[in-house]
Amino acid sequence: MSNLTKILKKNFDASYHQQLILAGDLADSMNSKVYLVGGAVRDVLLGKSVNDIDLVVVGDSEDFADQLAIKLGGEITARSQFLTAKISFSDFSIDVASARRDYYPYPGSLPQVNLVKSIDQDLVRRDISINAMAISINRNTWGDLIDPMNGEDDLYQRKVRILYKRSFRDDPTRMLRVVLYSQRLGFPIDENTKDLIPKNLRYLRRMAGWRIFITFKHILRESDPHKILDEAHSLGILRSIHSSLELENVDLDQLKLITKFDGENSHFVMLSILVSSLAELDSKKLIRRLKMTGRWIRVINDTQSLKKLVKVMSAEDLLNSKIFDLLSNLDVASLEAMYLISDSDLVRSNIRLFLDKLRFLAPELNGDDLIKLGFPEGPYIGKVLKNLENLVIDGIVKTREDEVNFARGTLTDL
Ligand code: ATP
Ligand code: MG
Repeated sequence: MSNLTKILKKNFDASYHQQLILAGDLADSMNSKVYLVGGAVRDVLLGKSVNDIDLVVVGDSEDFADQLAIKLGGEITARSQFLTAKISFSDFSIDVASARRDYYPYPGSLPQVNLVKSIDQDLVRRDISINAMAISINRNTWGDLIDPMNGEDDLYQRKVRILYKRSFRDDPTRMLRVVLYSQRLGFPIDENTKDLIPKNLRYLRRMAGWRIFITFKHILRESDPHKILDEAHSLGILRSIHSSLELENVDLDQLKLITKFDGENSHFVMLSILVSSLAELDSKKLIRRLKMTGRWIRVINDTQSLKKLVKVMSAEDLLNSKIFDLLSNLDVASLEAMYLISDSDLVRSNIRLFLDKLRFLAPELNGDDLIKLGFPEGPYIGKVLKNLENLVIDGIVKTREDEVNFARGTLTDL
């Protein structure tokens, strides 16, 4: 059995390292066993920085999580029915789970969870071998690598491999995860694993949308989401999730354009690029299929609305205030996406102008100022403010004094 004491010290940030020591001591005092598992082990072995810490406890994980939160000065921010807890600190979090085994009553169903008494049993139910390793952090066994599925070998052989034949059938989202890690790490998918994908695609069709959506979000947040989507596409995975994601509907070359974007929320921009080639009806179906929520829905709907504006937006002599009116209610991510994909220079420059400048412009005066100037309370104030906004955006009114003069001028219209 390898011992990773040195690697842990070298590749782990000192403060994380200390937290692990404290967690191990706590487990010792509770007669439990505790392990660092999953992505952190994989990334430590690869010499990459670790952002999330997942711990698995053989023993009472709820009590352990409560006490660990107190010991480390964090707060329990989530618990789930699967005996997991999240301890949050100001800038990172630790997930604590009980060692468990899953049973899938039917393909793609939610697992039924049973607690188990050894870490090995917990590891063999995971997705891929390089994610199925654990490192013991109890004091006496500190640094021992537990690797029942030979993940370490696969890591050095650069291979993404599932753990058992029925894995995709039990949880079809693993097909997406296989592609995700293969593309992120640049590791080919193991041949047997790859052969199993076409045979299991049909299980994706019946899979609950919200579960696919979790993995879908994970993918869009990756630094090269277009590569993952592209590969998921060629393997037939996307179209098995929903017919709207058929090959001919999605413009694969457009996905690459995300690499030209370096702002925030690139996952929403990627989403917008992806759905921009879909017909409106299909994008609505996709929202329903994946049970999307919140801003995800908004970005998709706004992407469709924006497509309808392209014609107006390509006019030569649009007033800035007109551009503002057309675009100001749309999600910024859908605008950034259209900026990347549009082949009209005018559309692109109008969007850029809005994003970089117009959207930040506003009159200095507000409703209260107008009342002080003698305006009666009521809808007229809104109209004056809107006019002022247009004038500011068109650069006709430049200073607060100009605004006051303009407003006073309109008082006489009353
Ligand atoms: P990263 O967060 O860097 O993408 P990770 O390995 O931490 O990588 P998570 O999605 O956070 O990935 O999941 C944590 C661990 O949970 C994984 O390493 C894996 O062992 C297990 N896991 C996640 N999803 C599944 C799944 N669908 N089936 C089986 N095991 C899973
Ligand atoms: Mg993770």
